Amino acid sequence: MGLTAVLGDITTMEVDAIVNAANAALAGGGGVDGAIHSAAGPTVLEECQAIIANQGPCRTGRAVATSAGALPATWIIHVVGPIWTQHEPVENSTLLANCYSSSLDVAAELGATTIAFPAISTGVYRFPRELAAPIAVSTVLNWLSQNKRNTSVDTVTLVCFDSENLRHCQQALTDIA
Ligand code: ADP
Repeated sequence: MGLTAVLGDITTMEVDAIVNAANAALAGGGGVDGAIHSAAGPTVLEECQAIIANQGPCRTGRAVATSAGALPATWIIHVVGPIWTQHEPVENSTLLANCYSSSLDVAAELGATTIAFPAISTGVYRFPRELAAPIAVSTVLNWLSQNKRNTSVDTVTLVCFDSENLRHCQQALTDIA
């Protein structure tokens, strides 16, 4: 059981579930969302559209799962991160923490063992990276310690797309772990 940070492209991760930093409409888009949809293929977008037709837009901090199409993963867990300019700082932090814990809850419901996260909200949603990394690390570690007796989830990887995010995640792991 553990948490690590690596430099990489989340679409190539050979894990049970990857997390997508989605938007409320689950409509695909740029950044990691666009990379995941283009690598996974059209069936994932169709599943996303069915979810939206059934339940309406996804609330910030909530997670839903689809299959992973052509990706090596089995599932994609789509979660909507907070847009930094739309909330007060404390609310932003709570919403970002909810993204990590609700994604882990969904992963556990699926029976996933290995999960990979991107740095949710740190792209076009503009969450400051030095604040996002310790929230990601502390939320995942707290969730793992609270659920260790009764969850399939075993190994969590924070997949950083650039060395700046990797540095922040490694610093947070050193400070918190
Ligand atoms: P958000 O809208 O939640 O801010 P973005 O996709 O704009 O989402 O950015 C979130 C993070 O994902 C950024 O730090 C960005 O560098 C990173 N990212 C972009 N593409 C990939 C990828 N293929 N794998 C992992 N992380 C990625």
